[in-house]
Amino acid sequence: MNSKPILGIDLGTTNSLVGVVDSGFPILLADENGDRSTPSAVVFGEDGKITVGAAALRQRALHPARTITSVKRLIGRRPGEGGWVPPYVLSDLKTTPVEVSAEILKHLKAIAEQALEQGVTQAAITVPAYFNDAQRNATKRAGELAGLEVVRILSEPTAAALAYGLDKLSEHQKIAVYDLGGGTFDISVLEMRDGVFQVLSTAGDTQLGGDDLDRLLAQFVAERLNLPANDIRLIEAAELAKKRLSSDETTRIDIPLAGSLEISRGELDKLARPWIERTRLHCLRALSDAGVKPEQLDEIILVGGSTRMPLVREYVREIFGREPNTSQNPDEAIALGATIQAGILSGSLRQVLLLDVTPLSLGIETFGGLMNIIIPRNTTIPAKAGEMFTNAVANQDSMLIRILQGERELAKDNWELGRIEVPFPAGPKGSARVGVQFSLDADGILHVLARDTATNTDTTLEIRGTAVDVADERVEQMIAESVDFAFEDMNERIWTEAKLKAEELLPAVDAALGQLGDVVSAEEKQTVLNAAALVRSLLESAEHDAKALKAATQLLDDATQSLAVMLIDRAMEESLERRGLV
Ligand code: ADP
Ligand code: MG
Repeated sequence: MNSKPILGIDLGTTNSLVGVVDSGFPILLADENGDRSTPSAVVFGEDGKITVGAAALRQRALHPARTITSVKRLIGRRPGEGGWVPPYVLSDLKTTPVEVSAEILKHLKAIAEQALEQGVTQAAITVPAYFNDAQRNATKRAGELAGLEVVRILSEPTAAALAYGLDKLSEHQKIAVYDLGGGTFDISVLEMRDGVFQVLSTAGDTQLGGDDLDRLLAQFVAERLNLPANDIRLIEAAELAKKRLSSDETTRIDIPLAGSLEISRGELDKLARPWIERTRLHCLRALSDAGVKPEQLDEIILVGGSTRMPLVREYVREIFGREPNTSQNPDEAIALGATIQAGILSGSLRQVLLLDVTPLSLGIETFGGLMNIIIPRNTTIPAKAGEMFTNAVANQDSMLIRILQGERELAKDNWELGRIEVPFPAGPKGSARVGVQFSLDADGILHVLARDTATNTDTTLEIRGTAVDVADERVEQMIAESVDFAFEDMNERIWTEAKLKAEELLPAVDAALGQLGDVVSAEEKQTVLNAAALVRSLLESAEHDAKALKAATQLLDDATQSLAVMLIDRAMEESLERRGLV
C-alpha cells in the first residue's frame, strides 16, 4: 500500500462509492455491512445527529422533511437557475448543497479510513461531464469541508473509459460511454491512442435519470390504486418494482393497507419509452460533434444503474446500430475509474495521460449583446486562448467584460460566470487595446486575465462558484491546513510552466522573424537569435534547470517585445473593425 493513498470517489446523485489502489489494483471499499455502494441520502435529525447512506434512507418515510436526497442536482446552482427551485427542506434545515455533499464525502472518507486502518486526506472526485465551473467548484469545496484535499475533479464518462481501457492501452479505438444513472444522463465520445484518452465530445442532461421513471411508475400505480402519487413509500416501491422488471417479466407492487397491483415489463416500457427517447438527440449530437459515425465506434460502454434495463439496451443498440458493451459493472465503473485516476496521481499506478474536454463554450459579451466564444465547447483541457478587443465608442474609459458560458448566440441567454471592469485612458474610438485571456486548468476551473496593453495593467478573475453559501473563511482554513502539500514538486512545476512558455514562444519568434526579418535591424535580429538559442539549449539539456529556463525565456520574451508589437499592430488593423466591444 502506498504510504499516502488518494481516494477515488464517485459522488453520485443516487449512490456514491469510494475506492483506492492497493498493491497495484484498484479496489472499491465496503462499509461495515459489506456494501460498496452508499445511497447519497442524508438525514438531519432533530437532535442534531446526522445520518448518511442506507440508514438515512430507512428514516426517510418517518422524517421526509429532514431527509435530503439527490442533492447533486442542486450543487453549484443558484436558486431559480434553469427553472430550478431548491426544495424548502434545505433552507428549513439551514444547510447548503455543499454542506450536505460534504456529509456524504465525510461518510465515504470514514468507510475508507476504517477499511485501510489509516487516515486519508486526498481524493479524486468525479462529476458529470456537463457540470459547469460553479458546480465543479462547489464539489471541490464539499471535499474540502469533508477534510479532503481534492487533487482532481474528473468527468464521469472519462472515469468510466479509464476503467474500461486501462488493460487495452496498446489498441487504438473510439468509444462512446452512455451513462444513465439516477439523476443525470451523460453521453461522451472518446478516443484512445497510445495510452492517451481524449474526450472528443460530450453531451447530456443533468436532469434526466432513473428517478424520473420511479415517479412515472408511482403515478401510474397511484392512479390505479387511488393514492397520492408523491408518497415516498410508493416511490420506493415503484423503484424496487422497476429494478425487478429488469430481470423479471412481471412483478407485483404491494402497498400495505392500500392494495396491490401486478405490473408487466411491457407496461413499464410504455412509460419509459418517451423518457429514454430523450437521450437519443444527445447521442446524435455527441456523435456529430465528435465527427464520428456510429459504425466508426469500436465500443459503446453502458454505465449507470438504469442501463440494466433491457429497454435501455435495446434503444442504445438501435441508436448506435450495434450491440452495447456491458463488460463493466454499470454501478461501479465510474468509481473504479476515479480510483485508477487517484492511483495514477499518487504514483501507485503507471502514468496514463488523461485528457478532458470543456462541456460548454466559454466566451464574453461583445458589442450588440452577442456571445463571442473564446474557448469552444469540447476543447481539450487544460486550454488557454485569448483575443484582443478595443473600445467601440469614443471617450470610453473602461470596458465591462462579462464572462459567459453556454451555447446560445445572444449573451443574455448564456450563463454569466462573472464580470470584470478594465479601466483604460479615454481616447478616440478604437484606441484602447484590451487583451482577454482565458485559461482553463485541469479541474475545469476558469482563470480570466484582462490586460490593458497600453499600460500593461492586468485585471484577473478566477471563476468560483457564486452559488455556494459556505463561508470563505471555512474553506480557506481547510486549505491552510493542507498547505503542507503545496510546495511538493515546485521545481517540476516551474520547469513545466517555463517549458510550455518556451515551446509557445520559439515558433512564434521564428514566424515573426520570417515576416518582419527585413524590417528589424541586424543587431536586434542577432539579440533575438542568441536568446532563442539559449532557450533551445536549456530545453534540450537533461538537467531541467527550471530557474535558468524561466530566466532565458523571459529574456527572449523581452528581446522580442518590439517584434510582437509590430505584429500585433499589423493584425489589429486587419481585425479590429469587426470586433468592436462596448
Ligand atoms: P447515480 O449515478 O445517479 O448515482 P447509479 O448509476 O447508481 O446512479 O444508478 C442509480 C439508478 O439506477 C437508480 O435510478 C436505480 O433505480 C437504477 N437502477 C439500479 N439498478 C437497476 C436495475 N436493475 N434496473 C433498472 N434500474 C436500476
Ligand atoms: Mg453515476
